[in-house]
Amino acid sequence: MRIDILTLFPEMFSGVFGTSMLKQAQDKGAVSYQVVNFRDYTESKHKKVDDYPYGGGAGMVLMPQPLFDAVDDIRGQANPRVILLCPQGERYTQKKAEELAREEHLILLCGHYEGYDERIREYLVTDEISIGDYVLTGGELGAMVITDSVTRLLPGVLGNETSAVTDSFSTGLLEHPQYTRPADFRGMKVPDVLLSGHHEKIKEWRREQALERTKTRRPDLLQE
Ligand code: SAM
Repeated sequence: MRIDILTLFPEMFSGVFGTSMLKQAQDKGAVSYQVVNFRDYTESKHKKVDDYPYGGGAGMVLMPQPLFDAVDDIRGQANPRVILLCPQGERYTQKKAEELAREEHLILLCGHYEGYDERIREYLVTDEISIGDYVLTGGELGAMVITDSVTRLLPGVLGNETSAVTDSFSTGLLEHPQYTRPADFRGMKVPDVLLSGHHEKIKEWRREQALERTKTRRPDLLQE
């Protein structure tokens, strides 16, 4: 997969993309990330990418020209998903991450300032995604969230191929509780069933726990 991120702050990405699983995924060739400063595409003499809103009001609005030209240049003749990070978009979920992980190429657009010229939303993008009901200063953190959640689903990225399948949300439930050594820590004991070596009983216990946990913490998931 190829992921292009259009941003005015490319320096924000080096730590996240150069560490841990995202770095390993690139090193293995499962994914390649390009972080592009769309200011490089502006036709403005003064390198401007934003302007005052028509009709007045507070804040600056991102102009269409730099983003349209950057996307045209990156996508060439292909037709990749072009995703706008935006608090007004569809709320991001594991299901959406799974859908995006089936694509070959994603372009993520990170806003900043007050907002976007509406023509970007209407004519340039295929998806608008919000990472939650709160407002960030820019789309960069959202682009990192999408990149991380999609990358870990790509074949060969996680060491254990089954672990993404049993994660919370992938099954429709929150994941069951996990324990590791020691079996008794300061009197706090691991449930006997997990030490029993009885695979069927362990599977059943995990399923019950996942259901119980989902019922208590996220009943909305059970409704779905
Ligand atoms: N005025 C805009 C509005 O009310 O919808 C908010 C603009 S926000 C200050 C600046 C940028 O941060 C947005 O263009 C978007 O790229 C990003 N952003 C803010 N909150 C976000 C969220 N919840 N999910 C994804 N991106 C977000």
